[in-house]
Amino acid sequence: MYTLPDLDYDYSALAPWISPEIMELHHSKHHQAYVTGANTTLDKLDQARGSGDFAAITKLEKDLAFHLGGHINHSVFWKNMSPDGGGEPDGILQVTFEEYFSGFASFQAQFNEVALSIQGSGWAILAWDPLGQRPHIYQLYDQQSNLPAGQIPLLQLDMWEHAFYLQYRNVKADYVTAWWNVVDWTDVSSRLNQATTGSLTLLA
Ligand code: MN
Repeated sequence: MYTLPDLDYDYSALAPWISPEIMELHHSKHHQAYVTGANTTLDKLDQARGSGDFAAITKLEKDLAFHLGGHINHSVFWKNMSPDGGGEPDGILQVTFEEYFSGFASFQAQFNEVALSIQGSGWAILAWDPLGQRPHIYQLYDQQSNLPAGQIPLLQLDMWEHAFYLQYRNVKADYVTAWWNVVDWTDVSSRLNQATTGSLTLLA
């Protein structure tokens, strides 16, 4: 069974960039709902196997991808942020951004556009592609769509309205600009190191 991970910081720790009210609702209600949904779906799949009745299998498979997707996305998102975040990355990230995105500023510009042009609910994600051995930026729709299998998340930005609306209303660009102030490059760098050596754990 999946469980809701604790945050490494208080709900008020990312203020003023992300308000305590958003953080509490987002973690304790929204993320919890994905955890509960994933576990409920696993129970129903267990029952289906027990009874041999797979009439609802298509719905259950979609539910599993959606809820487990939500659980994974938020688990990475919390770790990607820190009250001591912000600034520009150095080391392996600086080199990677230079090699694949023409530098940090260009990476950030592309990432911002990806985030702000999502139609409906979704995420902007920097992920490592183990096949090409290189990073890509993706638009992830809802919690599970539009992402090739096997991509390893390095940096995720939640663009669902529940992530920003209480504080930023409809001005998504202000939310995205504020968010860069809490990005924990140490965490992102660690994920990249793990991804390239095949030892990634999402909650490390
Ligand atoms: Mn969310």
